[in-house]
Amino acid sequence: MDFAKKVEELLKMPQELCNMCGLCCKIATFKGGMSYEEIKEIASDYSNPSQADGARDFLTIFEPITQEQARNTAPDFFNIARSRFPEDRRDKVGFFKCRFIKDGSLCQIHEDRPLLCRMYPIPHERTVYHKNCGFKERGEQNWQEIKTIIESLQQQSQELEEKRQAINIDTENAIKESDKLIAESEKLISEKQQNNNPPY
Ligand code: SF4
Ligand code: SF4
Repeated sequence: MDFAKKVEELLKMPQELCNMCGLCCKIATFKGGMSYEEIKEIASDYSNPSQADGARDFLTIFEPITQEQARNTAPDFFNIARSRFPEDRRDKVGFFKCRFIKDGSLCQIHEDRPLLCRMYPIPHERTVYHKNCGFKERGEQNWQEIKTIIESLQQQSQELEEKRQAINIDTENAIKESDKLIAESEKLISEKQQNNNPPY
């Protein structure tokens, strides 16, 4: 099976599942709940370009909102996002709102909306779905399948490593055995030569 292709398929969810409620544009988190300051740090960390690009894209579209505004907009989402962090970190969970949403739930740049909007939501254990989000059920199913593929690949990789180590041990033993045989042969040859040599 082509695992990469399968995972790619599972990551792309059918857009018709979206019920256009617009909640994901009104309230969002980055990587489950990073604060604005943490995202800015990632955005300027050039040692990891793909993460930095993702963080910059996010900040181009989204602006921070207060936790109070987030609670009023979507209390379920607010509580789930916060509950994923230890209590002493919860007040730092960052919530954001898109700059391009208008008239309740219309996207002003729909035709040109960025990739991160087109890819949303990505099936993953850290994804927090909005109440009644049309992608929730499919996203959770797809993540389970992706997780099973990852676990199976990890298992195969572990088995291969064990086989590689076993082959290394066999090879080392074979080398030792052949060294022993060579030493014994050389000893025999030397003894034979001594026996054949005249004693003067
Ligand atoms: S929350 Fe889900 S259903 Fe609502 S607009 Fe966003 S993706 Fe679509
Ligand atoms: S750009 Fe459009 S689709 Fe993307 S979050 Fe903003 S309003 Fe929503």
